Amino acid sequence: MSATKYIFVTGGVASSLGKGIISSSLAKLLQARGYNVTIQKLDPYLNVDPGTLNPYEHGECYVTDDGAETDLDLGHYERFLGVPTSQSNNVTTGRIYQSVIDKERRGDFLGKTVQIIPHITDEIKRRIKLLGKQGQFDFVITEIGGTVGDIESLPYIESVRQLRYELGTANSLIIHLTLVPYLKASGELKTKPTQHSVKMLLENGVQPDVLVLRTEHELSEDIRRKVALFCNVANDSVIQSIDVSTIYEVPLLMQKEGLDQVVLNKLNIPTNKKVELKPWKEFVEKVKKPEHTVTIGLVGKYVELPDAYKSIVEGFIHGGAVNNTKVNLKYIHSENLTEANVSQELAGLKGILVAPGFGSRGISGKVEAVRFARENNVPFLGICLGMQCAVIEYARNVLGYKDANSVEMSRTTAYPVIDLMEEQKGVTDKGGTMRLGSYPCTVKKESNAYRAYKTTEINERHRHRYEFNNKYFSDFENAGMIPTGINADTNLVEIVEIPTHRWFVGVQFHPEYKSTVLNPHPLFVSFVKAAMEVE
Ligand code: GLN
Repeated sequence: MSATKYIFVTGGVASSLGKGIISSSLAKLLQARGYNVTIQKLDPYLNVDPGTLNPYEHGECYVTDDGAETDLDLGHYERFLGVPTSQSNNVTTGRIYQSVIDKERRGDFLGKTVQIIPHITDEIKRRIKLLGKQGQFDFVITEIGGTVGDIESLPYIESVRQLRYELGTANSLIIHLTLVPYLKASGELKTKPTQHSVKMLLENGVQPDVLVLRTEHELSEDIRRKVALFCNVANDSVIQSIDVSTIYEVPLLMQKEGLDQVVLNKLNIPTNKKVELKPWKEFVEKVKKPEHTVTIGLVGKYVELPDAYKSIVEGFIHGGAVNNTKVNLKYIHSENLTEANVSQELAGLKGILVAPGFGSRGISGKVEAVRFARENNVPFLGICLGMQCAVIEYARNVLGYKDANSVEMSRTTAYPVIDLMEEQKGVTDKGGTMRLGSYPCTVKKESNAYRAYKTTEINERHRHRYEFNNKYFSDFENAGMIPTGINADTNLVEIVEIPTHRWFVGVQFHPEYKSTVLNPHPLFVSFVKAAMEVE
């Protein structure tokens, strides 16, 4: 294909309709036809990145190989496409303003008044086109965060309007996702909110080419025709997106609805390439009809909002499918766990995962959960803070270092078994300053990690400030907690295990970020397998 095609996905009527899933599904379908596709998310808030956001605000912060702290939608992009994203795939209003203001301070605008149009919109357009300029993508799909009509989204919609004019209809396309609510009392599906939402786009000079309508019930031909008529789109460009039990079915549904076909037609691209979706379909079958089920506890302090653990939840779906198993996740609030109730709260679980996190809230509950898993030979996976809790627990209850702690929780502990990393000591800014992104790790051969990865050289993504304190390395080793993964350049301990336990693995990195549908993460696969073997 000659020029990169740009597809914009906007949303209307309500938030959380799943623009990320629709974008990912379309991308998957185009990829299945042999095209190279990437997806970008533009977020309309003023934080420079979501790294400083509490998970209660926007769910999990997703980390890319190049160390960008990004929106959780990028996780969907990677899980669907199996192609790594980077800093350029997530841009916030904060980042846009920051670069425009930096330019202004440098004097780059030569005395001009700096304004939203054209300076902010130019910067938005530059960021969109940057991905296309890399030359490796046939399609760049840009998802505009927020909902049409929001004050914050306006500069983005305006940029889409300008780009549409610059690129022309042969090289760009606009998809608008809306909701068709169902009124139970009268048994009717209502299209008016969609009409209003498209009107609002039109007021901003943007005419969508394709409408995707989220709905709980089948849309009749009449409804589709009505929407097409009122919203100036072709009949075949009104696409139904009905609720399904798993997000992974959405690409198949969109294919049935002809979304990819319509998009290619509109961009004058021949559609004769064969769609290769066999492995995807097999995966969806396994998710929908599992042969077994296993219950695993997820111990964390953000469990009220499962989006806070999005990639972990998806990692279990991928790892479960390989094992023909549905993983029932039981969310356990670490703040409610005590020495007195832990055996009751965690009884019957076939595996326990202690989640990542920051700060001391809920720490004692996490340590109790580790202890329960260790003493009762329950398969255990500790991720980041979860691994650190495993180290603290072992120090306190096996090594007898009663006061052992992470320096994050106690500056004055006599046994700082988890300490601030050397390069973190002078750091004062919170944003983008952790140990972030992909680092290599060498895995010891006799270990559950090696049995899972089947290789000694791995790369995993990180997001933390604290580390295993190597001062205690041999104390742990002699007492039976073995560092089985080490960063060869820095000697940082990245994995710890207890070989006498059936499956006890703590990882300083985040395996969940790298689990995808067609490449389920080995640690999730192996953890689920270990859980299934518990009688
Ligand atoms: N708070 C811990 C640290 O900064 C763990 C971080 C995490 O779990 N992502 O080291």
